[in-house]
Amino acid sequence: MPINEFEKIARQCKKYTDYIYLHVLGETLLYPYLEEALKIVNSLKMKATVVTNGFLIKEKEEILLKHQPYKIVFSLHSFFDNQSVMPEKEYFDGVLSFAKKSSSIISLRVLDEYKNHPVISFIKENLSKNLHLNFTPRFIWHTEEDEAVKKTGSCLGAIEQFAILSDGTVTPCCLDYDGVINLGSAFAAPLDSIIKSERAKRMKDGFLNRRITEEHCGKCKFDAKRRGSRVQN
Ligand code: SF4
Repeated sequence: MPINEFEKIARQCKKYTDYIYLHVLGETLLYPYLEEALKIVNSLKMKATVVTNGFLIKEKEEILLKHQPYKIVFSLHSFFDNQSVMPEKEYFDGVLSFAKKSSSIISLRVLDEYKNHPVISFIKENLSKNLHLNFTPRFIWHTEEDEAVKKTGSCLGAIEQFAILSDGTVTPCCLDYDGVINLGSAFAAPLDSIIKSERAKRMKDGFLNRRITEEHCGKCKFDAKRRGSRVQN
């Protein structure tokens, strides 16, 4: 997303929230305007969360230490799933030495299936007030090919959250990286008019009454039993 569009959108978001998550599936540390984006969020007195696989932490730590996002989430399972990218020692030394220097809240997210890995015991011994370890089940993303089986249920999409993709597409869903539920473009219209559109209102009213109005949500694999899930079936 061009940084001038980011700034325009962030200013409009201020009316609705203090929290900005700098990703929808993508790798935040690859964003070429990361430093400018953090400056903008801080200047608006908003709170940025960075979610990262951590592979680029050494290259980007200066920016993160200088602008101190409110929270940084390291998806450590990205390393366990892709161990050929870099040696284990190099990866965890990078993440843990950064965590020691940072005053952001740091969450180390690990899939349940990796919780017995030896490095996890080491991490547990090094937790602190701002360094947390969170376990979570593996999430199965739904695709357009899946059958829409759910007709009822609720979710915080369109009620408490919206996502804005890199091309400006506004969607009510933090999982909708393809913009299937496309409510409009934040590059072309005020955010206010998009999130108050008929489609967004219909979705919000539906969830408030446990009705699913979007086919995409009927396919959703989010599970109420999943820790941290915001979807209740
Ligand atoms: S139900 Fe699933 S697809 Fe629909 S908004 Fe919520 S998380 Fe997104």
